Amino acid sequence: MSAGDGSYDYFQFVQQWPPTNCRVRKRPCSKPRPLQNFTIHGLWPSNYSNPTMPSKCTGSQFKKENVYPQLRSKLKISWPDVESGNDTRFWESEWNKHGRCSEQTLNQVKYFQRSHAMWRSHNVTEILRNASIVPHPTQTWTYSDIVSPIKAATKRTPLLRCKRDPTTNTELLHEVVFCYDYKAKIQIDCNRTAGYPNPQAISFQ
Ligand code: 5GP
Ligand code: 5GP
Repeated sequence: MSAGDGSYDYFQFVQQWPPTNCRVRKRPCSKPRPLQNFTIHGLWPSNYSNPTMPSKCTGSQFKKENVYPQLRSKLKISWPDVESGNDTRFWESEWNKHGRCSEQTLNQVKYFQRSHAMWRSHNVTEILRNASIVPHPTQTWTYSDIVSPIKAATKRTPLLRCKRDPTTNTELLHEVVFCYDYKAKIQIDCNRTAGYPNPQAISFQ
């Protein structure tokens, strides 16, 4: 598909490590101790040719009622606002920026249901723990050290995204991305996704 407004090739399902988010942002997060498990950042319809598109498409605005109580209680666990604790506002901004660009495929209810199901389908925190990749103040891993166990568990290549800690200058593992086909049904390799520079040494804290 072309990179026009609202057209996309595939989805990126992005999960974040809350402690890294809270470490690198300028203002502190609301919780004194961030969650110690990967949570959803967003489900982004994406293009291979124009990596940050589409976004902010026309399409329906977020409606709070679509996050019905049973769904809401699930998203509170899988998709919390780890910065300020305003979960509904975070869901609203993700839907309005990304979700509504693929509304023809996933309406708002399905968008959030599917995201939660993706989060449930593979527990990244547990996959890493089983490979002895656990938060540590000084140990570092290579990109492939971290990708390998995830690839083994999911049978698909994920993408890692890191953020540089401004105080220590170390690269911190921040996000793990899974890629899905354009219907958000089948997980695919992230090989064609525009890469981020792979740091030599990745910290997980
Ligand atoms: P960051 O600075 O974290 O890499 O990206 C900032 C924002 O740009 C992301 O939260 C997301 O909204 C958007 N973005 C970055 N990469 C992609 C991408 O590959 N696809 C889409 N659709 N948006 C992206
Ligand atoms: P993108 O705009 O596509 O979704 O992501 C970039 C934005 O998402 C950044 O401004 C980043 O601060 C925000 N973001 C990432 N995680 C969270 C969170 O847990 N809560 C809120 N409110 N924003 C978040």
